[in-house]
Amino acid sequence: MRRARRLLTAALLTLPFAFGCTPLVRRHPGPPPPLDPPAEGSPLRDYRGAWHVHTELSHDSGGTLEELCQAANAVGIHFVVVSDHNARRTSESDPETGVTLLHGVEYSTDRGHVVALGDRELHPAHRDSEKLVAAIGSQGGLSIVAHPFWRSDSWRWSDREELITHLEVANLAVDIAEDIGAALFRLPFYLIDSTRALSGLLDRPTAELQLWDRLLAERPVFALGACDAHSRWYIGYETALPLLTTHVLAESKAAADLISAIRNGRCYVAWDVFGTTDGFRYCVENGSGRTEMGGETTWDEATRLRVHVPADARIEVRRNGVPFALATARRWSLPLPGPGTYRLEVYRNETLWILSNPIFVR
Ligand SMILES: [Zn+2]
Ligand SMILES: [Zn+2]
Repeated sequence: MRRARRLLTAALLTLPFAFGCTPLVRRHPGPPPPLDPPAEGSPLRDYRGAWHVHTELSHDSGGTLEELCQAANAVGIHFVVVSDHNARRTSESDPETGVTLLHGVEYSTDRGHVVALGDRELHPAHRDSEKLVAAIGSQGGLSIVAHPFWRSDSWRWSDREELITHLEVANLAVDIAEDIGAALFRLPFYLIDSTRALSGLLDRPTAELQLWDRLLAERPVFALGACDAHSRWYIGYETALPLLTTHVLAESKAAADLISAIRNGRCYVAWDVFGTTDGFRYCVENGSGRTEMGGETTWDEATRLRVHVPADARIEVRRNGVPFALATARRWSLPLPGPGTYRLEVYRNETLWILSNPIFVR
């Protein structure tokens, strides 16, 4: 009897390897949910995106564009920012799935990795970060600092960084690689539900947030959350994409609308694996009207912050990087006492769930 039980256990442990060690069961958010209706009086809708994804054009990733689009569609992602290492694709949408493809590039420079988006062509002088960032800017593109604290690829700041307006404050690949011991401990759970197992490795990115607040004290810099997915035999797109997303509030999911919203900081970072964040809204209202995330307004006596989250959650308001007000709520309206840079951190079960971009009250 004991021998039979041991044989059964061995067979069960062997099974994953017979299937190439891919997870046996996967649970996904499912096909794309209907988009939430625009907020009253607002033409903006919430589009869920996978920011910073590699394909077979990168030396360290497999995965075709077709596989990427099918996986994105299966897990409810509306757009993908493809950013292969020093290589660039050209098509802008996938006709079969309808997933919008935004084509960026992840450049390896002398100061670290930069993701370019919205420019027109590949820049050959990519080692010199200052020349590269200037060239991207001259074509109307955005330069985004990728994983600012990733070992040898940590970003080394210079005095001339004004053209860098965006920062990856969270990067899934870094979270996993930095905690490889915990990742191995989770291996048995990984075989059952890979996405859930990896969600335990997601932490509040404290160092990145401190860096961001320091930059925000000087100028507007917007936050993005990168899944930095590399399709490999042990972690495919369907596992990685739902873990960490960047949501964009735009009028449509056409490439130009999405890039324009990202440029203006009208987006937020979402750890969707802890619950769908569709419907999250954050704005400031006063005598001048409504200001969305990334925007700027002038303080008056009527200035209020308004938040709507899709489920009860702990909402922390930060003013100039410092905790300023706290509430557990689904809807919240808070008078603002004066100028400041106001951003939100929303927690669910004590885990960071949503990170807003700031609104600048002058
Ligand atoms: Zn990188
Ligand atoms: Zn990357």
